[in-house]
Amino acid sequence: MSKNERLVLLSVPNLAGNEWKYVKDCLDTGWISSAGSYVNKFEQMVADYAGAKYGVACVNGTAGLHIALMLAGVKPNDYVIVSNITFVASANAIKYAGAEPILIDAHPKTWQMDLGLLEEFLETQTVLNDKGERLLKKDGRCIRVIMPVHIQGNIFDVDSFMAMAEKYNLPVVEDAAEALGSTYKGQSAGTFGKVGVFSFNGNKIISTGGGGVIVTNDEALAKRAKHITTTAKTDPMTYHHDEVGYNYRLVNILAALGVAQMELLPDFVKKKQAIGDYYREHLAGVADIEFQEISEEVSHNNWLFTIKTKYQPQLLEYLNSNKVLSRPFWMPMNMLPMYKDCLYITKDDNCAEILKTCMAIPCSTSITEEELAIVVQEIKKGLNQII
Ligand SMILES: *Cc1c(COP(=O)(O)O)cnc(C)c1O
Repeated sequence: MSKNERLVLLSVPNLAGNEWKYVKDCLDTGWISSAGSYVNKFEQMVADYAGAKYGVACVNGTAGLHIALMLAGVKPNDYVIVSNITFVASANAIKYAGAEPILIDAHPKTWQMDLGLLEEFLETQTVLNDKGERLLKKDGRCIRVIMPVHIQGNIFDVDSFMAMAEKYNLPVVEDAAEALGSTYKGQSAGTFGKVGVFSFNGNKIISTGGGGVIVTNDEALAKRAKHITTTAKTDPMTYHHDEVGYNYRLVNILAALGVAQMELLPDFVKKKQAIGDYYREHLAGVADIEFQEISEEVSHNNWLFTIKTKYQPQLLEYLNSNKVLSRPFWMPMNMLPMYKDCLYITKDDNCAEILKTCMAIPCSTSITEEELAIVVQEIKKGLNQII
């Protein structure tokens, strides 16, 4: 056993600002629930930060994705193209909208959706009908939307991707759940397509405990998102609802946490980037360790710092039994029972390789210099024992 007494956690919330004050304000005034000023303030702050015109808060990122897909036109029996390696919520949201995922393998270096495979698939296996819909040739069903996931907060070549989405007539919904604070050529994740979604779950860069925000520049879409996430009520007085809405709103007390966390976000992004820089410097050349490839156009929020090594299974075991928490990558969607029969576009199944070799290491915004040094030291010790 190593000497460090304290557990070094993976990625935990950091409540270092006005959280207590704003939550107390909700409690003191009684505005804890569906009305109150923090919801609007939080939505505005997230939209402003991302450089989007509108933000609509909801109960979590998954619910936000569900609504974003519906509002982008996804209907039962449609397909939605999505990254094969992602957190399961991306694929689940597609199912909630009644559609079926088409899974695209990851690029081996960036771990993002492989754009080469995507283009080849669109070119050879799909066709445009006279209504301007993109169909899968095999069964004639419509591919309504493409939903890239900015894996770990990294972003792929957006210019090529958006050109492709346009060429093939596919609206873009971005799963930017992990990417708040990441930019491509200075533009925020979540704002490249029609609509994007951020998550404020406990492990994300900032958190409301649970929460999500839908961002868009489309006023009509933003209004519809607000309407449908708040039970589709048409009048503040009478209980008239004009469609089957959802109770997906974020409550004021959680939005209060969100406002306090948004105040901290710029510092947290800097801290995450410093953590990333530290690991990239101190783990470079250690055994076979590699890092996620980031293009020059991308400023990466380093949401969940992840290393790649063929010794991953043993190193995971070593670190977790030596008080340094670390976790494997998510299991790719094609390996889960609900999605194993989905169309999976791949040549070399890079996702399987990523699953076997990648692992996240501690990177909370509250991590100390001492803890960072412990993590590096334990990784080196572990690898020495393993190899
Ligand atoms: C966290 C996450 C979500 C879901 O967000 P919740 O707020 O937990 O519902 C969706 N997609 C990805 C890629 C995520 O990492």
